[in-house]
Amino acid sequence: MMLVVAVVVSSAAVVFYGTSLLSSSFMAEASLQASSTLRLAVAALDGHLKRYEPLPSLIADHENIEELLAKPDDPALRQAANQYLKAINSLLDSSDIYVIDMAGDTIAASNFDGPASFIGQNFSYRPYFQEAAQGRPARFYALGTTSAKRGYYFSAPVEVGGSILGVIVFKVDIDVIEATWRGGEYKIFVSDPEGIIFMSGNPDWLYKSLLPLTEERLARTTASRRYSDARLEELSVKRRAVDGYQLMDVAAAKGGREYLVLSEYVEAADWTVNVLMDTTSVHAQARTTVVAIVLSLCLAGLVLAVLLQRKARRDQWLAMEIETKAELERRVEERTADLARVNSQLRQTQADLIQAGKLAGLGQMSAALSHEFNQPLAAVKNYADSATLLIERGRAPEARDNLTRISNLIDRMASLSRHLRNFARKPNEKLGPVVVADVINDTLEIVAARLAAADAVLNIDLGDVPPIVNAGSVRLQQVLVNIITNAADAVEGLSNRDISLSVRTAGSRAIIEVRDAGPGVPPAIAERIFDPFFTTKGVGKGLGLGLSISYNIVKDFGGDLTVTNHPEGGAVFRIELALAEALSEAAE
Ligand code: ADP
Repeated sequence: MMLVVAVVVSSAAVVFYGTSLLSSSFMAEASLQASSTLRLAVAALDGHLKRYEPLPSLIADHENIEELLAKPDDPALRQAANQYLKAINSLLDSSDIYVIDMAGDTIAASNFDGPASFIGQNFSYRPYFQEAAQGRPARFYALGTTSAKRGYYFSAPVEVGGSILGVIVFKVDIDVIEATWRGGEYKIFVSDPEGIIFMSGNPDWLYKSLLPLTEERLARTTASRRYSDARLEELSVKRRAVDGYQLMDVAAAKGGREYLVLSEYVEAADWTVNVLMDTTSVHAQARTTVVAIVLSLCLAGLVLAVLLQRKARRDQWLAMEIETKAELERRVEERTADLARVNSQLRQTQADLIQAGKLAGLGQMSAALSHEFNQPLAAVKNYADSATLLIERGRAPEARDNLTRISNLIDRMASLSRHLRNFARKPNEKLGPVVVADVINDTLEIVAARLAAADAVLNIDLGDVPPIVNAGSVRLQQVLVNIITNAADAVEGLSNRDISLSVRTAGSRAIIEVRDAGPGVPPAIAERIFDPFFTTKGVGKGLGLGLSISYNIVKDFGGDLTVTNHPEGGAVFRIELALAEALSEAAE
């Protein structure tokens, strides 16, 4: 509400001040137009009068006139002069031409035969007569006392033989010019030096005075009888200057009017030509323009307001968008942090589990190791005790046999401990050419008991040329023992307990494959069976170290240990080793 009031009040103020501001600019424009109208009016009047100016002097020189003035009472001369004047008056299209003697009486006139003949009229009071009588051509404008017609008078002295005998007067109509001023956009009028209007496009204004009709003024006008018997009145006007423009307020019955006034004093004619322009249209124009401007501004304001509102809405939306995005990012960060926390917890748990698993593995290993060592130790103890008894009883050969067994058992334990050293992956054997067939033979001795226990059959195929590989014989044997023992484990209790071992060469490599008829290795665990401590066997039975150690040993030889399942069932362990010849060839 307040806003509306403010807008209305400020608009009104803008209209008010804008109108007055613009008015002066429109006034300048109007003044420019009015001044050109004024120029035209002045030029038209000037042109009209100038044509007649030299004529009185020319006519004065005419013999008819000179002769008449020399003999003023001669009727024939008068007649001739009258005829002559009438002829040239109609020829020149002037109002009247007449001759006055030095007493001021008219003795010849172009209108001698008309109803308002000038003949016999005395014009001695007219300034144009007084001037010309003294030898100076003169000009004057006045309302004809006889004709009651306004006109512009040109007079010239008639000199005969060096003396002035009379005056010739030439009266010009001004109605034609005045007629063109009627009904135009501008009010055009001519005022005399006393401020009385002599000519006007608006007949009401004729003989009205723009200045107060003081006695002095009236006296001067009466002396020349410029306005004959016409009634002179004051025009109710107020003149003022605004911003350098002459304004005139004219009181009228239906409210006054304001006019812009432009005037030019014409010295030759001794009158002032005025052009008035009604300022109503100027103000209206200014007001319309200002209102249009205000309306345009209001419209622009409205458009601006709408745009601003839209922008504000968009900004708000953007801000919301940014906030939402920030919120989303914050949540994502939170979740990420949560995830990271959970992850690290998981890793910790995993690490703990691995640790626990390792400890469990160590426990298993300790159990298995103590079992492995305790049995031979118990056996050694038994053999040693009985050997003591046998020696006491003098049964030396049997006692020696016991000692041999003890020695063998110690060898076995030493080998076990080597096995453990291997697990520590500090190979104590250097690589060299190893005859695969020999290693297999040694292996058979070790695994024979296990194979027998599982009731398994091992078929060996050494191929045509048993290869020599680059390896360590004890460690290779260890690998084979592990793989064959696992195969025995796999087939134990099954109907088909066949295990086959094949050796062949492919290019520069020897391939040893151990295939069993067991259940094979499920794909899910195939990748993990080479991990340390991975076992599917019950507690105390498997260490989960065999394949891990074997894998590392084969890698140490620069070979490969892989497992696949045979299409007909059972696992196939494949050991790939570089041939010793190939190696030495390569070395050369
Ligand atoms: P362990 O024999 O002590 O379990 P290994 O490292 O020798 O440890 O073997 C790891 C696992 O690999 C075994 O527990 C078994 O699940 C699997 N495995 C090894 N050899 C065979 C085979 N010939 N057939 C089926 N599974 C086997």
